[in-house]
Parts: sequence; C-alpha cells; structure tokens
Amino acid sequence: MAPATGTLLAEVPASTPARVAEAFERARQAQPAWAALGARARGQALRRLARALRDDPRLTETLVAETGKPRYEAVGMEVFYALELTRYYAGRAGRRALRDEQRRPFLFAIKKARVVRHPHGVVGVIGPWNWPLLNNYADCVAPLMAGNAVLLKPSELTPLTSLRVAELWKDLGLPEGVFQVLPGRGDVGQALCERCDMIFFTGSVKTGRQVGAKCGERMIPVVLELGGKSPMIVLADADLPRAARAAVWSGFANSGQVCIRTERVLVEEVVAERFTALCAAEVKALRQGAGAPAPADQAIDVGAITFPPQMDTAEKQIGDAVARGARVVVGGEGRRAGGGQFFAPTLLAGVSSEMAVAQDETFGPVLPILRVRDAEEALRLVNESPTGLSGSVWTADVARGRALARRMVAGSVCINDVLMNYFVVEAPLGGVRASGLGVRHGPEALRQFCRLETIIEDQPLSGLLSPFIQKQLMFPYRPRTLRLLRWVMRRLY
Ligand code: NDP
Repeated sequence: MAPATGTLLAEVPASTPARVAEAFERARQAQPAWAALGARARGQALRRLARALRDDPRLTETLVAETGKPRYEAVGMEVFYALELTRYYAGRAGRRALRDEQRRPFLFAIKKARVVRHPHGVVGVIGPWNWPLLNNYADCVAPLMAGNAVLLKPSELTPLTSLRVAELWKDLGLPEGVFQVLPGRGDVGQALCERCDMIFFTGSVKTGRQVGAKCGERMIPVVLELGGKSPMIVLADADLPRAARAAVWSGFANSGQVCIRTERVLVEEVVAERFTALCAAEVKALRQGAGAPAPADQAIDVGAITFPPQMDTAEKQIGDAVARGARVVVGGEGRRAGGGQFFAPTLLAGVSSEMAVAQDETFGPVLPILRVRDAEEALRLVNESPTGLSGSVWTADVARGRALARRMVAGSVCINDVLMNYFVVEAPLGGVRASGLGVRHGPEALRQFCRLETIIEDQPLSGLLSPFIQKQLMFPYRPRTLRLLRWVMRRLY
C-alpha cells in the first residue's frame, strides 16, 4: 500500500516454510564458493551492485512509493548511504579488517598465534520498514563482504525495494543463492532465527528480545539494533539557531520514523524560550506532502507515515502530554484529512520527564522540549532511560561537550550535530541497554560476521627447543619445574 496515496502498489506473496527451507539450502550450497572468491573479488561484486543501485531509476521510485518519504530522503539518505557503506566495506578498509592477524606471545615467545576470520555461513538479516534500503539491503553489505550468504527478510510493509535489489543482483549475474530476499511476516523472521548461522536484526525492542532469546537458545551470534529515546542536550552557550534547525531536521526527517532521531530535547532553562521560538519557526516552515509523483516532491520536506500505528502512538503521547500540562506550540491537529497517511508535525513545550512523550519511543513527527536547570539535570534524565541508542550535545565549548558526551550512556553521541553518526561509516554505531547488542559500521561490525579461529604455530627454529620444553612442562611432573614456575611467577607478576 502506498502510504502517501492509499493506493495498492503490489501484492507480494509471503514466503512459505517450504520456500524458506529451499532458500536456506541454496544459500548453504552457494556460500563456500562465495567465501572462496576472496575479499577483493567479493568487494568488486558489491561495488558493481552499488553502481547498479545508483543508476536504477526504479529503485528510487519504489522507495518513495512504498514508504511515502520525500525523494530527497530516498536518494540523499538511503541510496547515498548504501553507496558510501559499500565504498568503505568493499574497499581496502574491508579487506584489511578481514585479514589474518599475527599475535606475538610475550611469555611463550617461541610460538606465534595466527587469528583467522571465517564467515559464519548463512546470515539472516531482518529489517524494519522505515529504511527499506538503508536498514535492509545495506545491512547485508558487511555480512556479504565477510563471505557469508545472506537471506534478507524485509518488513511486510516494504518488501518492494529489497525485491528490486534482488532483481539487480540477478541481472548482473552475481552468484546465485548468495543473496536472496524472503518477503513475509514475522513468521518468516522466526524461521530465519531457527535456521541461520547468525542473525542481524533491526527493529523494535519487543521483537528484538524475542529474536535474542531464540538465538540464545540456539547459541548463535546475533546483532540487535533496536529502538531508543535519543536526547538532544542544548546548553545555554550553544549556537541556538543551528541547534534549532538540527533539532527540527532530526525530529521530523522521514516523518520522525528514524531510530537515532532526536526523540526529546533537554534545554537549559535560561535559553529555553528563545530555543523553542526558533524551533517553532522551523516547524511552521515545513512543507508536508506526497513524495510522488515527480516533480511535486521537489517542494516537500515531510512525507507520509509509513506504518499507521505510529500515528496512534503520536496521538496518545500528545494527548497524555497536554492532559498533564504540556503546550502544543505548532501542529497538534494529528492526522490530516484526505487521502494518505499524513500526521501534522507537532512541537510540544513544557514537557516534563514523567510524560509518555518524554519516556517512550515516539517514532513519529512529534518533538517534545523539556526545560532543565543545568547540564547535570539533563544528564541525570538521559541516563535514567532504559535504552541508550544515540544523542547529541550542543555547546560552544567542545571540551565541555565531549566531557558530557562521555558521561552519557549511549552507543554514539554527536557534538553540535545530529544523525551524522549514521553516515560516519568508519566508526561503530549501536545501542546499549535495551537498545541492542553489537554494532553496525567500522571494522568492529564487519568482524562480527566472522567466527574466529586461532592457530598456534612454532616460530622458526623454535622446534629445536621443543623437546626440552616438553620435558619441563609435560608428564612426568617434577618438583624442580614447580620451583621454576614459582620463581617465574614472582619475577613476572
Ligand atoms: P519490528 O520489531 O516490528 O519488526 C522488525 C522486523 O522483524 C520486521 O521485518 C518484522 O516483520 C520482523 N519480525 C516481526 N516479528 C518477528 C519475530 N517474532 N521474529 C523475527 N522477526 C520478526 O520493528 P518495526 O519494523 O516496527 O521497526 C521500527 C523499530 O525499529 C523502531 O523501534 C526503531 O527504533 C527500530 N529501528 C532501529 C534502528 C537501529 O539502527 N537501532 C534502525 C531502524 C529502526 P513484519 O514487519 O513483517 O512484521
């Protein structure tokens, strides 16, 4: 269903259990040859696919149609991100991260250790509906680069983008069975958790817990990228116009359906009024509408709501906040009349920390502003949260901002910026507490998709010493060796 128009876009049959089993077997068969190609050749294949994504007009149209987002966000965030991530992982940085490593032991210097990274095998990638390319295909890039085959389960709401990527993979003649898309509902995700060698899940905390439990039961590795309540802390010395623009962009981009969006602003009370007025002017200027057909989208900032229940959440949170004394500064009308799933971008002031809008993930176009006495109060409220995904600190004093950022319990924090942590693909991005386990981005993420094997070998010539060492350390034990060990322990430790 097209969220911006309410029209039926396509009917996609859900994958049956037999289809999942067959896809899994094909992936299992295809994976060893893909791994044997080596990192350079896999990188070349992924770069070919990235170029095809870049040049495919249907991809952008599909993204816009199935999500209802502005074309700028489809191209400038989703396609751009997929290309940047491929540039990084499919190039030298990816190859380097996957290389064997030699470790030189200190005590047993006659030995050397080789740390080898093998792909896990078949990785199941389960994605949400808010970014059908960025959180679906793009999350397959690292596991594929590491030599795994991937079975991708997109959200039932937005399968078309992933299916288009699968078509491009096939058209390019890339290895069959290595990348497959399995549309369907939650049961298809469950089936992947029951079969795959590893799961990379992005979605809600609630489903993430179920996925984590299943993977724990099977003792397979899992990466969980979940929701949060990312804060923006605005200190009195901040560049307020810049902070307000960023708050509104990160609060309303993709209609607020962004995991690391600014979910709440905590502003020092001495500048709260001015900051709120600046935000209000920005929100009033937002142009909301359908992202398609072109060229009307050129004049659009905020698109439709992809998943209708997000509007219920937004409505409930606004109602709760107003009933407890918050003030609607802009918006507040809720669902727009007429065709399509549109919700008025809403700015709330006078919000207090016990309100639902300050506590629970909104994932919709509502931005609450809370006044705080000072940075310490802001930090206390931020760190009370059961989640810890992302955040930002705004101040003219970068050292102070850094010190505050280090004390925030979050997977990543931007100083004087927002959302940039998603586009700096060189550094890990993930959540702490209930926001998840593991990371995407950086060598750390790529290496998650490998199992480790350590191989211990002799140093050249050390074989000559082996008979002597064996005699000292192995059977039969002797009191003299024990005395020697005691002597070594006293000297070394
Ligand atoms: P859900 O948890 O509802 O769904 C995520 C995916 O899991 C979907 O493909 C869904 O299928 C599938 N699924 C549902 N039930 C199961 C199950 N029992 N086992 C396995 N898979 C299952 O999340 P949403 O799609 O609603 O996504 C929104 C959430 O994602 C927000 O909380 C947001 O914060 C978070 N998110 C986090 C990101 C991050 O990087 N940390 C990035 C983007 C979003 P189906 O849709 O067909 O039901």
